[in-house]
Amino acid sequence: MEVLFQMFQKKIKTSKLLALLALMGTQTFANDLFQGQSGEIISIPAAAQEKSDVLTFKTSAGTKQLVSLPFVKQDLVITRHHVKVKVNWVNFGESRITIADESKVTLSKEDQARANKEAIEIKSALSNSSTEITPSFDFVAPVPGIVTSPFGKQRFVNGMPRSAHLALDLRGSIGTPIVAPLKGKVVLIGDYFYTGLTLILDHGHGLFSSYAHMSGIKVKLGDLVEQSNEIGLVGATGRVTGPHLHWTVYFDGNKVNPESLIQDGYLSSIL
Ligand SMILES: [Zn+2]
Repeated sequence: MEVLFQMFQKKIKTSKLLALLALMGTQTFANDLFQGQSGEIISIPAAAQEKSDVLTFKTSAGTKQLVSLPFVKQDLVITRHHVKVKVNWVNFGESRITIADESKVTLSKEDQARANKEAIEIKSALSNSSTEITPSFDFVAPVPGIVTSPFGKQRFVNGMPRSAHLALDLRGSIGTPIVAPLKGKVVLIGDYFYTGLTLILDHGHGLFSSYAHMSGIKVKLGDLVEQSNEIGLVGATGRVTGPHLHWTVYFDGNKVNPESLIQDGYLSSIL
């Protein structure tokens, strides 16, 4: 125990130390290392010096702030804001899809240039979040459809490994109304190579959501939409195998798992 205490004093807080502590059946020193799952949001004590754009919540255990954890391919200890967090790897499985139109898999120079330009536009829309909207984190599902592809699956397109699917695919036929899961401001509308007709909502304080492959858009850039307002229609535009809603949620700089967010009592479950 003396050795462990010295390690702690030297601030050696590795997953090995944690594993050792777990083996010894003690969590004496584990309290200052937070943990959570790949692609989830956790709460931590709010920083002593709060920045004005950081959303805080008063709880019986003190003032807290929310932190997003990145998608990881193995367990990882990282620093997020002012704390160290162990992000636990999750086996989300894999999916193999076939895109018949080879020009949408191996891009021409022109298409690659277009996709690159669009990626910059999307990044720019996500770079500034409103502090005038306070997200309640009390989400409603944007469409009633069942999940056809969960968050985090490793994708193989025509047999080639591609980046993991950091969004949620919800079933819907062409024309199914899509509603805003929370109050938000429309900060991007476009027709993009990969995601087709696309819309991004800024829910405030670094929380954004994006809607892809739509067949129609019911709002304009700059509109403020209330929760459950219709924003668009399910479609099959862009690179798809069929009509569905590809729903991405960004918070605190990471893509997070949308499926967790639509669970009842989500916010209280993480505070
Ligand atoms: Zn998708």
